[in-house]
Amino acid sequence: MKDLLKKYFGFDDFRPMQKEIIDEVIKKKDVLVLMPTGGGKSLCYQLPALKMEGLTLVVSPLIALMKDQVDSLKANGIGAEFINSSLRFEEIKQIEQAVFRGEVKILFVAPERLSSSYFFDWLKRLEVCLIAIDEAHCISEWGHDFRPHYRSLKIFKQEFARVPLIALTATATYEVREDIKKQLGLKEPKVFISSFNRENLKLSIFPKRRAFDKLVGLIEKHKDESVIVYCFSRRETEEIAESLKLAGFSAMAYHAGLEREVRQEVQENFIRDKTKIIVATIAFGMGIDKPDVRLVVHYSFPKTLESYYQEIGRAGRDGMESEGVLFYSYGDVRKHEFFLEQIEDEKQRQIAREKLNQVIDYCESADCRKKYLLDYFSEELKKDCKSCDICLSDQEVFDATIITQKILSAILKTGSVFGKSHVIQVLRGSRRRQVKDNGHDKLSVFGIVKDYSKDEVDHFVRALIGAGLIKKEEGKFPILKVTSKGITFLKNKGKIELTKPADDLEREGIIKSDKIEYDENLFERLKAIRSIIAKENDVPNFVIFGDVSLREMAYFLPVDKESFSKISGVGEAKLKTYAPRFLAVIQAYVKKFKLKPKPINKQLRSANRPSSTRRIHSPLARYQVTKKMIEQKKALTEIAKVQDFRLTTILRHIQKLKDAGQNLNLDYLKKDLNNFSKIETAFQKCGKARLKPVFEELDEKISYDEIKIARVLVD
Ligand code: ADP
Repeated sequence: MKDLLKKYFGFDDFRPMQKEIIDEVIKKKDVLVLMPTGGGKSLCYQLPALKMEGLTLVVSPLIALMKDQVDSLKANGIGAEFINSSLRFEEIKQIEQAVFRGEVKILFVAPERLSSSYFFDWLKRLEVCLIAIDEAHCISEWGHDFRPHYRSLKIFKQEFARVPLIALTATATYEVREDIKKQLGLKEPKVFISSFNRENLKLSIFPKRRAFDKLVGLIEKHKDESVIVYCFSRRETEEIAESLKLAGFSAMAYHAGLEREVRQEVQENFIRDKTKIIVATIAFGMGIDKPDVRLVVHYSFPKTLESYYQEIGRAGRDGMESEGVLFYSYGDVRKHEFFLEQIEDEKQRQIAREKLNQVIDYCESADCRKKYLLDYFSEELKKDCKSCDICLSDQEVFDATIITQKILSAILKTGSVFGKSHVIQVLRGSRRRQVKDNGHDKLSVFGIVKDYSKDEVDHFVRALIGAGLIKKEEGKFPILKVTSKGITFLKNKGKIELTKPADDLEREGIIKSDKIEYDENLFERLKAIRSIIAKENDVPNFVIFGDVSLREMAYFLPVDKESFSKISGVGEAKLKTYAPRFLAVIQAYVKKFKLKPKPINKQLRSANRPSSTRRIHSPLARYQVTKKMIEQKKALTEIAKVQDFRLTTILRHIQKLKDAGQNLNLDYLKKDLNNFSKIETAFQKCGKARLKPVFEELDEKISYDEIKIARVLVD
């Protein structure tokens, strides 16, 4: 079996459970496979298909994916075809004949096809050795994607009683699992549930402040990689996509309000790497099977943990390091609550509220994110994941006794009837109306926490909830209360240590990983040749080789067929068809830079598993939008608006860029300043350090903003 694995797929080892599942299928037993996205489900029916005599039929609802799946199999030298509504009658006939001649090992069909008695009769005349039902949860009304056509799949176990059936899904709940077994009529199936822990995914949550700026920072970090940004509304997707485009990125919006053709085009462009960033509502995803998405951002809050898990699951299907980042703000939660209130059915509303609260808890928890998520899916993670922002943040502890006393007192003094944000406002001495109207600006706790930012105090409150000194009472507006443990703490003058909050930008830094092992320049060249070959064959890039393969090439530098064949993902067919052109690139590169190929062996490979692209995030990356927009000669007001900044912030960006020696051509801005020369003269007289004298020198007729702009221009 291992020989087949290398020969056709180019892999050396099975992923967890694949071998066991395949063994069972070959013994002609029914099986049910629950594996997360990217776990490697396809291989569980593709490998038996090669081993067994006859045709393997794969039922999948994802018509849009069938062509890519078939192209990938063909590139590996496996006879595969699909039949669905996108084909013309004659094309279907041709495929049917090829199947009859035994040229096709794997045939993909849409479930609709099975309602046709013609198709079924045809199928019965064939030697079918295996039936695979992909996305099997579609058969269950308990699942999140029920498809009535799936109900007709019952017929398989009646009409093809001897043929083993393998049902596969990434949905793990108990109800769905039982329903699949029942609906399909599986015979004493072995159920394989693999861990839903996606080790290659890094998860983090950022407070949603300066969100666009952070988004750009993240995208910069994943430069030239595929990114999905999930938004709340159609309008938001369009706005963000537009802003990203203005900032010089290749981005497109996707939502259910777009024409079908437009949606298809956007999807196609994404799969073919013509568009790198998709800004979408949740409508985007079901039809996406792109293995190399490296970043999924929830720009707005997800509605449920299930959908969140599914959406982040679209990152890193190929097993390479990827990340999921969620921007969290209470404002977004409110938006969801507003919609919740519109749900008329009381029970439905209740369920939706509960689900929303679970997401809030997840965001606010001070525990390992993956532990929390997996616990939600009834799986226990024994150790902390070491790959979420909580686990990775500097777990430096300090004596937090004083800040704890302050927070607890503020909750008590404000009457234990307010939520977190109000308590924090009081502590930090906010002048907001609500604080004043309640007379809280007169309290002794008003403004006693000046040395911590809002997010930092927020971090402490969460930690104190975790430590059991505070509890949050759920409701429409969750309020904070001091627990009896908290009261005892105050009374007995207890001591407590907490972890220090990490600044969120610093946290972004932590998410960046360490080693750049492979040769990035060679990797870029390999990507270029891959893209040319993909175009010639009219297939997506990943059908030729996945990033995992290219990175191994750029790490091990194979220069002959023998060593090239050892690269992961290189099977016999690809070795024959593609090796020469990739080898030519590697050989030339190795020669030019006098590099030495590394021996490829398994131990070395797992020890040096090439990690995903980890460029060090330059501090200037934060000002890139401003820089790009200046290059496009955009007005300052527009630059500010796109990023949701004030003008002064943009001026500071410009200053920083100039300080760093960046060449900016700002002359076009002078033209917009009617009084530039006057201001310049005033600067000569009064200096530029302070603005007030200049303002006065100009008879207080020219605004501070104009003077500030002029100051940046003359510098
Ligand atoms: P799923 O259908 O569970 O989402 P796929 O079958 O698409 O996952 O597999 C995800 C990725 O993992 C693919 O890029 C596939 O080539 C790769 N893969 C699967 N099995 C192995 C293996 N044994 N070794 C290396 N890579 C594998």
